[in-house]
Amino acid sequence: MILILAPDTQTDSAEFKQLEAFLARIPNIRHRVHQEVGAQQLLTEVYLIGDTASLSIDEMSNLPAVERVVRISEEYRVLGRHRDENRATWFEYNGVRFGQDNLNIFAGLCAVNSRQHVEAMMKALQAHGQVCTRMGAYKPRTSPYSFQGYGKECLPYVFELAGKYGIKVIAMEITHEAHVGEIRQALADTGQPTGVMLQIGTRNTQNFELLKFVGRQREFPVLLKRGFGITLEESLNAAEYLASEGNRNVVFGLRGMKTNMGDPHRNFVDFAHVPVVKRLTRMPVCIDPSHSVGSRDMAPDGLLDVMHVTAQGVIAGANMVLVDFHPEPAKALVDGPQALTLEELPFFLEDVRIAREAYEKRRDLARKFS
Ligand code: PEP
Ligand code: MN
Repeated sequence: MILILAPDTQTDSAEFKQLEAFLARIPNIRHRVHQEVGAQQLLTEVYLIGDTASLSIDEMSNLPAVERVVRISEEYRVLGRHRDENRATWFEYNGVRFGQDNLNIFAGLCAVNSRQHVEAMMKALQAHGQVCTRMGAYKPRTSPYSFQGYGKECLPYVFELAGKYGIKVIAMEITHEAHVGEIRQALADTGQPTGVMLQIGTRNTQNFELLKFVGRQREFPVLLKRGFGITLEESLNAAEYLASEGNRNVVFGLRGMKTNMGDPHRNFVDFAHVPVVKRLTRMPVCIDPSHSVGSRDMAPDGLLDVMHVTAQGVIAGANMVLVDFHPEPAKALVDGPQALTLEELPFFLEDVRIAREAYEKRRDLARKFS
C-alpha cells in the first residue's frame, strides 16, 4: 500500500510525526518513505510493507497528511502500474523529458574511439536538432582480448564536446560501480557541461549488487537493458531493484533476445513488448535496433533492417531509440558492421518521424473509439 501525502509535506512537521506514530503502532507493518524533489513541489510517498490486506483504504486516507491511498499488487511495487493510480509515467533530467508519452533519439557511438569521431558525431547531431547521444566508454566484451573501451581516459573530451554541441544527455554504459564515481568526477572537472544516463547492459541486468549501488544514487537516471536470456518478468524485477533502492528515474530498454530463432538478425527482435512494458509499468521504454539486428543488411525496398525494426518499435509507442552511428564504420573499434553513417542520419530521423506520427494517429484513433 502506498500513502501519497499532500504536496510539500515535510518530514519534520507535526502532521508527519503523528502519521509515523500511528504507523508504528500497527502490528506487522513496516514503512519506508520516498521523497521526490520536483521543480514545483516536494512529493512524499510512504510505502507500507507487510500485512497490508487488513488495512482499510478509508481509514488510511483519513490519517494526517495523507492525500491519497493506492493499494498495490505484489509485483513491481514502485515502478509498476497499480489499480486506481495516477502516478507519473515520466521524469525530467537535465531539461529533457523522458516519458511514456514522448520520444527521444540517442544516436551515437557504440564505443568512443577518437576525439575526431566524437566531434564529427556530435556536430552532426546538433545540425539535425538532436540533444541526446550514446557514447560507450566502458565496453563489456565477449572476448577478454577485444578492445574494452577507453574508460575514464576519454570522458573529459567526450563531456567537453557534448557541452560545445549542446548535447544534454549521454547514454553511457557502466559495468562496475567505480565507473559512476569516474563519470561524476569527469563531469565536475569539466564544469558539468552535459548530463549522463547510466546504462546497465544486458549482461548485467541481474547484477543485483550493481543495481543496488546504482539505485542508491539519484543524481543520474538509468537505462536498464532487458536481459537477453531471461524472462521479461525477471528483467522488470531487475528494474524494480533500482527503484526499491530509491532511484525511479529508470528507462527500460528492449534490445532483442539471444536465440537462433532470430537469425539472420543478431538477436530476436522483441519490440512487440513495447506496449506490454508500458502496460505493466510506468517506465518509458527504449528500443535498441542496432544490437537487435546487428548488421547493415537492407531489404529490397531500400530501407535497412535497422530502420525497419526501429519503425516497428516507434509505431508501437517506444519512447527512446538507442542507435549506433559512426562517421567511419570501417574504423569503429566495436560493432562497426551495424553502425549507420552520418549521411544516413537525416534519412533515419525522418523515417522515425513518420513512424512516430503514425503512432500518434493510432493513439488518437484509440481515444476516439474508447
Ligand atoms: C550497447 O548498447 O553498447 C550494448 C553492449 O548493448 P547490450 O547490453 O544490449 O548488448
Ligand atoms: Mn555495441
